[in-house]
Amino acid sequence: MKIYNTLSHKIEEFVPNEPGKVSMYTCGPTVYHFAHIGNLRSYIMEDILEKYMRYSGLDVKRVMNITDVGHLTSDGDTGEDKMLKGAKREHKSVMDIAKFYTDAFFEDCNKLNIKKPDVVEPATHCIDEFIKVISSLIEKGYAYEAGGNIYFDTSKLKEYYVFHNFNEEDLEDGVREGVEKDENKKNKADFVLWFTKSKFDDQELKWDSPWGVGYPGWHIECSCISMKHLGERLDIHCGGIDNAFPHHTNEIAQSEAYLGHKWCNYWFHILHLNTNDGKMSKSKGEFLTVSLLEQKGYDPLVYRLFCLLSHYRKSLVFTWENLDNAKVQYQKILAKTASLFKDDGGNIDFVMLRDLLRSFTDALDNDINTSNAITALYDVFKADTNNKTKLKAIEEMDRVLSLDIIKNAKATESESEQAELPEDVAQLVKQRAQARKEKDFALADELRDKITALGYKIEETRQGTKVTKL
Ligand code: AMP
Ligand code: ZN
Repeated sequence: MKIYNTLSHKIEEFVPNEPGKVSMYTCGPTVYHFAHIGNLRSYIMEDILEKYMRYSGLDVKRVMNITDVGHLTSDGDTGEDKMLKGAKREHKSVMDIAKFYTDAFFEDCNKLNIKKPDVVEPATHCIDEFIKVISSLIEKGYAYEAGGNIYFDTSKLKEYYVFHNFNEEDLEDGVREGVEKDENKKNKADFVLWFTKSKFDDQELKWDSPWGVGYPGWHIECSCISMKHLGERLDIHCGGIDNAFPHHTNEIAQSEAYLGHKWCNYWFHILHLNTNDGKMSKSKGEFLTVSLLEQKGYDPLVYRLFCLLSHYRKSLVFTWENLDNAKVQYQKILAKTASLFKDDGGNIDFVMLRDLLRSFTDALDNDINTSNAITALYDVFKADTNNKTKLKAIEEMDRVLSLDIIKNAKATESESEQAELPEDVAQLVKQRAQARKEKDFALADELRDKITALGYKIEETRQGTKVTKL
């Protein structure tokens, strides 16, 4: 399997530290608001990566943090804490906001068939770990105290800008636009590990530390949570491209300074979902959420397919027309699949199945090329083989794609068949289903006879109850 590594700027063969095992870390959401569908693009593509690794036989352990403290309104070190901003907006406590939006995030993930990581850890649960690592960084000479805060000293590193060749001027004009200069910093790129003094001193959550009562910076949480659950050598770290700098750059700086060796081998970054008028953001008032898609009548899995139709390393523009196109494609996939149920006898042709799956795995082996993987799915319908083999190929592919193809194709099929039934027959079919559910088989048989008398045949198949005209 080959993937693009932001660290080397190359597509590389993926080789985990320990054969057959993968440690994977994902930056989780900042839970001060609903996730927008841009955030969820990142989580969908990471889900495909994880599931494809599992499909390929790798034993994956995936860890995600929940940012419930320390992420300031600027990704640099100034501004108000986002959680506090959320709490003020809704007149609730920070912890209530965190709980509400963490649950909402996983509900959205569930609707999009995004698997929950093996470990989910809120930052506020790991304060002791942060203090331990920060203390060690101070001891090793990588961190200093200034104006009440603890800063990481980037001048102590051989190389700080590991992903890009940022220069200091760019930082001032671009990445940290509008951010006030922090006079405590020895170097422009230094970042806060622990705050005790912030202009926003009404921070709700504070903890005791050797440097006074305060709260952690945003970056330290991901290094510590990753090391806590995945050890000193991480195989792969994921996130949206905006996280590459400064967040991931700072994670690498502090983790490697602490460990004294290389920390993470592969960096997987997803390009942004944009709207026609620019970057999607939570601070712009009304923003696009899964609930909004549902309100407008879209199945969340249509949005999942929309994401899969493009490569994760290309930025993607969201428009309702593009989503409609994905909806048409989704319905087409379901209808074509439903047509395969009609004659699905015989045996699986394993040679053919292997060939069909090979073009699918070739696509994903090639830097998670999901749009080619969807083409491989369409090729199944055209293949010269029996329906049983085709259905097996679709089932296998859907272990990674997670579009509920077989399940939803069955639902569409039975809906369209039921829809054609006259009212009295449809009622009897419903009553019979209820009787079977209640294990009243005598009544079920009686109802079957009534249905037959009205000229319809009812039978149980692998795809559920089938009613056809006699
Ligand atoms: P946040 O909740 O802001 O911490 O972001 C959660 C995840 O969404 C991070 O991995 C971000 O890099 C990612 N992200 C933020 N905006 C976008 C976007 N417009 N498109 C794709 N991913 C994004
Ligand atoms: Zn992170």
